[in-house]
This record gives sequence, structure tokens and C-alpha cells, in this order.
Amino acid sequence: MKLVFATHNLNKFKEVQSLLPDTIELVSLTDIGCHDDIPETAATIEGNALLKVKHVKDNYGLDCFADDTGLEVKALNKAPGVYSARYAGPDASAENNINMLLKNMTGIQDRSARFKTIIALSCKGEDLLFEGICQGSIITQKRGAKGFGYDPIFLPDGKNQTFAEMTLKEKSIIGHRGKAMQKLITHFS
Ligand code: IMP
Repeated sequence: MKLVFATHNLNKFKEVQSLLPDTIELVSLTDIGCHDDIPETAATIEGNALLKVKHVKDNYGLDCFADDTGLEVKALNKAPGVYSARYAGPDASAENNINMLLKNMTGIQDRSARFKTIIALSCKGEDLLFEGICQGSIITQKRGAKGFGYDPIFLPDGKNQTFAEMTLKEKSIIGHRGKAMQKLITHFS
């Protein structure tokens, strides 16, 4: 069965490909000749994952899944949430976003936060959502050089290393994306 993973991120693609059963021929957006900048204009993380899947289904008629992730800070009413990639502006770097978040959390005592990944799957006429959550807190200063995005300021509950101080393997076992992917893989196993 042919299945599109709607991502341009080759690392994400390879990781998931290695985990899915051989019965699934996983193809990327590049493989199907899709070089579009798929709009991520929905008001929710779920909505954005569904938009990506719909784009592939409508334009290429193929079964597909897509993921979307956001960081939700409790004291900020779940911000940056769906705007995580562009919290400090349209062309913001990860450092800009981190600085903006730390500034907006100045003086806040309850620093609890969570990463949420939603995978939307559209396959054989059925639409499904898989959720992965990683609960933690936002520390006041960056720690670690690995990972990406908000990793240097996110401390998962029960750990004393930030995501940016962990190996990719350690992160993916407890992380939001890994948990959502695991649910997708179980669905196909
Ligand atoms: P995407 O939906 O995977 O593109 O994620 C949207 C944004 O959320 C990214 O640009 C990052 O700012 C942030 N983000 C997503 N996943 C992670 C993560 O695992 N660690 C840190 N930041 C992340």
C-alpha cells in the first residue's frame, strides 16, 4: 500500500519509514512531485495537520498522513500553541521564539507546559487523528545544544535534562512526536 508522509523533513521521514511495516510503501512529498508550500493557516494544531493531508488528497488523490506540533504553556493560555514556529514574528528564528517566550513568562511561577503532536491520517476513505503529549516545564535559561526549536528551555517531567541535552533516541522515547508516531505505527501493525 502506498502512503504519503506529508513532510519535507528527510530526517523525520527516514525515522518513520524505518518503523512502519514493509507492507507500506512510504513516499515523501518530493517523491510525488509536490514542492508546494502547504498552507498552515488553521487555528488549531489538529486543523493544520488536517490541512496538509487534505492538500495531498485533493491534489494527488493519495492516502496520506501529516504531523503538526505546538508548545502549550499553561499560564499563557496554551500559547504559543499553533503559532509555535512564528511566535516572535513571521521569519523568527528558534532563538527569537525562545527569547520571546522567556520574556512573556517573566515572573510567572507556574511554568508548566506541554508539547502536543497531532498526526492526521487519511487512508481508505477514513480520517483519523493520533495525539502525542509530553508534559514538562519551561526553565528560565537555555540548557543544551542538541535538538531544535524550544528544546533548550523544555524540561520534561521527571527528567533533569532538557530536550536539548538528550540524544535524539532519548527524546523520541518520551517525546510527543514519538508517542504520536507510535500510535500510528500500532494502527498499521
Ligand atoms: P512542526 O509542526 O513540527 O513544524 O512544529 C512547529 C514548531 O513547533 C517548530 O517550528 C518548533 O518551533 C516547535 N517544535 C515542534 N516540535 C518541537 C520539538 O520537538 N522540540 C522543540 N520545538 C518543537
